Amino acid sequence: MKVVPALSFEQARDCVLAQLSRHALAPAVEQVSLVDCLGRVLGEPIAADRDYPALPRAMRDGFAVRSADVPGTLRIVGEVRAGQRLDRELAAGETVEIMTGAPAPPGADAVIMVEHAMREGDRVTLPAANSGANINPAGIEAQKGDTVIPAGRRLGYVEIAALATTGCALVPVYRRPDVAILATGDELVGVEDTPREEQIRNSNAYSLAAQVTRAGGRPLILPVARDDWESTYSLVARGLASDLLLLSGGVSAGKYDIVERVLSGFGAEFFFERVAIQPGQPLVFGRAQNRFFFGLPGNPASTMVTFELFARAAVEALSGAPFTALPLLHARLRKPFRHKSGLTRFLPASLSDCGGWIEHVPWHGSGDVAALARANAFLVASASRESWDEGEWIPVLQR
Ligand code: AMP
Ligand code: MG
Repeated sequence: MKVVPALSFEQARDCVLAQLSRHALAPAVEQVSLVDCLGRVLGEPIAADRDYPALPRAMRDGFAVRSADVPGTLRIVGEVRAGQRLDRELAAGETVEIMTGAPAPPGADAVIMVEHAMREGDRVTLPAANSGANINPAGIEAQKGDTVIPAGRRLGYVEIAALATTGCALVPVYRRPDVAILATGDELVGVEDTPREEQIRNSNAYSLAAQVTRAGGRPLILPVARDDWESTYSLVARGLASDLLLLSGGVSAGKYDIVERVLSGFGAEFFFERVAIQPGQPLVFGRAQNRFFFGLPGNPASTMVTFELFARAAVEALSGAPFTALPLLHARLRKPFRHKSGLTRFLPASLSDCGGWIEHVPWHGSGDVAALARANAFLVASASRESWDEGEWIPVLQR
């Protein structure tokens, strides 16, 4: 097989984003109930069904006044509670007691907080107030017909509040893409099975399914493909019926790493086959029969990291969501750190809760799931740098 030069991490990510932007079509729209829409992607813009607020709204508990009347002592002529309205025009020298959220009566142009009022019977002495103080005019938050949430927005709790506010009980969302997951390897047994000593359980199918779900896709775990042509070919054929196919394993240079040959049998176009990262150097991204696929390296850490760095963007694009930036933050190293330059490394690390300190968690290679479970993040060591001092800032990929 020809040797293809490895892309840098940045080039490979740009390649995935460019290919998906070119080919991913807007998915079909379906309706789901408001309580089931968390994490889904909005399929149509949601417009305000009326002005928000519909009437000028008191922002504080206090007294609604004509600002020209204060400072001064005013006569209390009534009360407006939240959920009520007082249509009587406020006359000069009058005030009404008002609660947060209640509509300010006509004529009132300010609300003075109850904490600043001195009340005696039906009279109250109030300080000066600017016109508009503590009142949100009708329509100031959104006007009827304004877009409150654009299509393509992933729905979190804030968006769900906006949907509830605008009376959207059934939410139009994009259909989730079906993502086939195909683990390959003669050494793999099922989670319920007891492996012989030379065997291991198939963990990648499950970590990938979790990652796919989190990215907005519907995982479909296929049976494990054995490292032979027939088994892999028939399962790849099934996988290519989904919107996206993720394979794990079988993309290195070993004699039985046949995934790329099998994909070639489906007329695959390969966009890259190696990326200068660790874990995850052999990493295949391509398209066959109008479907994208990723051949992720089989070691568990490699599978997880390469999904987050590359495949996740594809699932998001196929979900109709705009690409989200990688969840990178910066933290300070608790100890000096060195690595060999040339590859961008994503290494298990422990990020402290407070203070933003990070420490590399020692591990024994990208099959070391136990070390990953002791860590809670990946530190990102740039390909162009060899050493960092204690206390220096370093990028961290959250997980
Ligand atoms: P491969 O990329 O096929 O050469 O796989 C590299 C190594 O990753 C294998 O030797 C296994 O130890 C491990 N591995 C491959 N597939 C899986 C899987 N589905 N679950 C857990 N470990 C795996
Ligand atoms: Mg293998």
